[in-house]
Amino acid sequence: MSIVKAVFVVADGMADVPLKELDGKTPLEAGETPSLNRIAESGICGVVDIVAPGIPPGSDVAHLALLGYDVLEVYSGRGALEAIGSEIDILPNDLALRCNFATVNEEFEVLDRRAGRIENDDAAKLAVALEESLRDDPPEVGGILFKSTIQHRAILRLSGPNLSTMVSDTDPHKIGVKVLKARPLDASSEAHNTAAILNQLNQQFYSVLKSHPVNDERMKKGLLPANTVLFRGIGQLPEIDPLTLLYGIRPAVIAAVPLVRGVCKVAGMHLIPVANATGTYETDVIAKARAAVETLEVHDFVLIHFKATDLASHDGKPRTKVAMIEKLDVLVNVLLNTVDLEDTLIIISSDHTTSTVKREHSGEPVPVAIVGPDVRVDDVDEFGERACAKGGLGRILGKDLMPIIVNLLGKAEKAGS
Ligand SMILES: [Zn+2]
Repeated sequence: MSIVKAVFVVADGMADVPLKELDGKTPLEAGETPSLNRIAESGICGVVDIVAPGIPPGSDVAHLALLGYDVLEVYSGRGALEAIGSEIDILPNDLALRCNFATVNEEFEVLDRRAGRIENDDAAKLAVALEESLRDDPPEVGGILFKSTIQHRAILRLSGPNLSTMVSDTDPHKIGVKVLKARPLDASSEAHNTAAILNQLNQQFYSVLKSHPVNDERMKKGLLPANTVLFRGIGQLPEIDPLTLLYGIRPAVIAAVPLVRGVCKVAGMHLIPVANATGTYETDVIAKARAAVETLEVHDFVLIHFKATDLASHDGKPRTKVAMIEKLDVLVNVLLNTVDLEDTLIIISSDHTTSTVKREHSGEPVPVAIVGPDVRVDDVDEFGERACAKGGLGRILGKDLMPIIVNLLGKAEKAGS
């Protein structure tokens, strides 16, 4: 018997609800997707409640679940995952927060949570000024690092004793309201101390940013100044065993989005760089598919993450979402034309439903289809939310998918004798 390998395609937020603009179809149902349909037709289908029925998951939680982890047990916040996915070192006891450069008025009311989607160059210069101020006037903490990543995004890392993740965000997550004070979420001195540090940084960062030449220049050009930093998603690395240890596989991932890269890195997956895999509408799906096929020569499990479907929903654009699903179909077509389904599994799913009506993640289950050797083929012949619900996998939980894949890989361990 030859060794079975697997390509797992995760289209971010691909699942959706029926949309008026698409005559009551979901974007998946409305798109021309011959390759996705071929996988459904020659494979087994089902629907997946990523965390639990009706619970909308974040992308970090969702990927942990799709990789087989019990997120209710292991999830420990977003910040550290995003940091490690942005090539910032995080040690087991470090705390990390996701930060946004944002625009506030003199009353500290948020005018734009992304400072007009500030460009990388401006954000990097401002980050250097903040780093300098942290050196000149450090808060009482063992170690601190602030680094901008992409556009308005940045990471704050705190290390040392007397810290806790039990602290609320300063990001109000909406505009027109004041920046929040970080609050301790339990009675510990660690939580009080961490909240106090964040509140102090909030003031300190504002005083550095409000008069910074980069912001003067931005205002002259009619751009929004990045005069504050919002903190959210404080977290530590989850304590999880790597996939190799759990399943005996050699896993790799192709993903552009830092948060997903972070999750996969923590799961011990090898990150495969692909030029022009951007995590945007323009991403090069053919390059991604080819890189995945090449990777299968060395690894036996490759996850391909595709972000653009989720972006279209958050942007509220049904037609764009259909177009992105059709773009994904091109990726899948390359896979179908290059791998041998006698020794390779292809798994297609999504990390959560993103409703293009709500423009937000939603709690409906997502479709899944698996094609490859020894798959118990069912009668479903179309890849869609409603079609897959009639499939042979039935309705499963996110953490159950990985053991199903591992069984098809011939690597499942017997329960009992
Ligand atoms: Zn997602």
